[in-house]
Amino acid sequence: MSRELPVMPEPLSAEVFDSHCHLDIMVGDRKASSGDQVALAAQAAGASVEAILADARMVGVRRLVTIGYDLRSSRWGAEVAARHDDVYAGVAIHPNEAHAATPETLAEIEELARLPHVRAVGETGLDYFRDWASRGDQHASFRAHIEIARRTGKALVIHDRDAHDDVLAVLADQGAPDVVIFHSFSGDGEMAKKCADAGYFMSFSGPVTYKNAEYLREAARVAPAELILVETDAPYLPPTPHRGKPNAPYLIPLTLRCLAEVRGVDVADLAGAIMANGEAAFGAW
Ligand SMILES: [Zn+2]
Repeated sequence: MSRELPVMPEPLSAEVFDSHCHLDIMVGDRKASSGDQVALAAQAAGASVEAILADARMVGVRRLVTIGYDLRSSRWGAEVAARHDDVYAGVAIHPNEAHAATPETLAEIEELARLPHVRAVGETGLDYFRDWASRGDQHASFRAHIEIARRTGKALVIHDRDAHDDVLAVLADQGAPDVVIFHSFSGDGEMAKKCADAGYFMSFSGPVTYKNAEYLREAARVAPAELILVETDAPYLPPTPHRGKPNAPYLIPLTLRCLAEVRGVDVADLAGAIMANGEAAFGAW
């Protein structure tokens, strides 16, 4: 595991934003477990929120959304978003922690979701890759988060790991909120068509740049311009050529350029579309 940080990419000629990252993990508010090499490397760098934002701005990444995965990270994100104009927060109990989504916890998530700088309920959804929480708990928690997003009018940020069909079915059955965002979109072209038909946003992350991920590039070609977002999921999922190193919002240009290339569009035009999509999804900054 290299402790070296990825070099800064060439700056963009237009502004864009990062729709999904975990600032609390990057700055070490949440100590990484010994097995989480990428988070450990990010924390070893000792960056502050201000430094992360400054690095991002240097390459044209103007804003970001820091995403909660439990009560503590949700509270932290809401506080940081209140202090920084260019930071919004998402609040939720992650599907891997769904057993912790008690009525009391969900009531606090809803309270946080009503704050003005909190613009999303997420990440929530279904994870059939990990069995840290039972499927029953995951479904119950997912449905409860859908209801919170509907009641608060905030965007719903979906974590979908090996669970495309069930995520779509639960959304249809429960009644999707106005704005649904598939974070780190992991489906193929066919899944992208289904999301497009339903009007769901697709947020593409580092893996779209990976050599073996032609199915993701196919999805990126299929997604309508008005439903595309870009994200890092930092400190996780760094784009090529930085796999194995900690990700950060300043690496968005690498993923954005890949998306522009596969869609055959100008990078600045795509950045402009994504900024507009961000306001449609999360509200005006
Ligand atoms: Zn995430």
